[in-house]
Amino acid sequence: MRVTVLGSAAGGGFPQWNCACPNCSRLRAGRIRSKARSQAQVVVSPVEGECYLLNASPDLRTQIISTKLLDPSKPPRHTPISGVVLTSADVDSVVGLLHLREFQPLQIYSTPSIRRILLEDNHIFRVLDRSNPPAVWRDVAINTWFSLGTVSSSIEESAIRCRMIPLGSAYPDYVSENLRHALPPREAVAGLVMAQGSKQIFYAPALPGRSEEWKDWARSSDLCLLDGTFWDENELISAGVGWKTAREIGHVPLSAADGLLAQSDFAKAGRRVLIHINNTNPILDEDSPENREVRDAGWEIAYDGMTFEV
Ligand SMILES: [Zn+2]
Repeated sequence: MRVTVLGSAAGGGFPQWNCACPNCSRLRAGRIRSKARSQAQVVVSPVEGECYLLNASPDLRTQIISTKLLDPSKPPRHTPISGVVLTSADVDSVVGLLHLREFQPLQIYSTPSIRRILLEDNHIFRVLDRSNPPAVWRDVAINTWFSLGTVSSSIEESAIRCRMIPLGSAYPDYVSENLRHALPPREAVAGLVMAQGSKQIFYAPALPGRSEEWKDWARSSDLCLLDGTFWDENELISAGVGWKTAREIGHVPLSAADGLLAQSDFAKAGRRVLIHINNTNPILDEDSPENREVRDAGWEIAYDGMTFEV
């Protein structure tokens, strides 16, 4: 399968429109060795002409238009995008669905809880039902294999099989109190395993660090795209742009004794790539000691346009 990173930054992108942190300011002034990054978005293509989006970023329209792989190929309307797999209901994971509202039939895969948040709590997403046929929302059970695509009816025939791994995080704070209490916590944020033949990838742009279950899947994967949001637990607080710690908003930081880098033994065999990088993160500066530390530990840092053949 081909894996393409369309966006590699966390919410807000890099630079973020209203952010004057050292990284964003230096990028605008051309005084940092780094690349601008759009908000996290990955596309997986099991075969030529068939693509699946992993989440739907706020930058999705621009990301699609700048990616040849996603060009329409036959008139009057067409897209190689067959479906979208949602791993959470976070704004940065779902708002891009509204960019796909131009009457295009789509399959949307998520846990039942994520579907309920989008359709019961946020009626605007019903705009996707105007296509003919309307969008098909496919409920996916946690920890159960499911296949992507409309043609294949069984897991064996399927080009790609997937599995949602619960990560132990919370629902976004915009979800109404009533609905939040009705939803099982295990369906809030998932890591996504995608396998084709003997090849496997693991995608988790938000790792809260509260469960270990995902590590076995990361260990057996040829490619891991994992949470590179924050370097430090108190990064937002020390930058003066937030009041919560990294873990409080669902991201284990990279540094510290119990950070993601210290847990790297889970994926020695495959490629390990950090994605969903917040604009405050010092690893964005290619000349920083933190960037060097990450690379010395065997990690790669995702950038927009990065591709993998798995
Ligand atoms: Zn910034």
